[in-house]
Amino acid sequence: EQHRVIMDETAIRRALTRIAHEIVEKNKGIDNCVIVGIRTRGIYLAERIAEQIREIEGLPVEVQELDITQYRDDRESGSGGRPAAGTSLNVKNKRVILFDDVLYTGRTIRAAMDALMDLGRPQMIQLAVLVDRGHRELPIRPDYVGKNVPTSKQEQIEVSLQEVDEIDQVTIIH
Ligand code: 5GP
Ligand code: MG
Repeated sequence: EQHRVIMDETAIRRALTRIAHEIVEKNKGIDNCVIVGIRTRGIYLAERIAEQIREIEGLPVEVQELDITQYRDDRESGSGGRPAAGTSLNVKNKRVILFDDVLYTGRTIRAAMDALMDLGRPQMIQLAVLVDRGHRELPIRPDYVGKNVPTSKQEQIEVSLQEVDEIDQVTIIH
């Protein structure tokens, strides 16, 4: 098993700074936007992006969390239940920017969109990811990408973030 570093701390910081500027440009500011981080690492990325946007625009940005484990269509869910989504998540008529660490088949994002629709109809949904590793199984593409990393299905991307892993680093494992 080999680890190869594909983004170091500086590369991650620069990619997030660029995405923050792209979000502000595309949305002509940050009015009515909410950044929704998916599960563990997407949430930290969402918080970092919000902080960067606050510095760029001088305005606070709303950040929310989404746990879509229950929504996945390819995993057994014991309860068969629906939302694990935070009940306080208010997305009705908002411009929602979903943030996840890695985009792969697209099934997690499809499930996230399902969850958002159940919570109230957003005005718009955009997608930001730190790494797009390809192999989509659904017609989903990100609006903002930190780095495109062509992978084989056998390879794995490891995303480490200061908040939980004590280091900012993306590696490819093969
Ligand atoms: P998808 O649903 O698009 O197949 O997979 C995306 C979800 O699974 C994301 O939430 C992401 O965290 C996780 N994921 C898929 N592939 C990888 C990978 O290679 N590395 C990491 N760290 N997460 C992955
Ligand atoms: Mg994930």
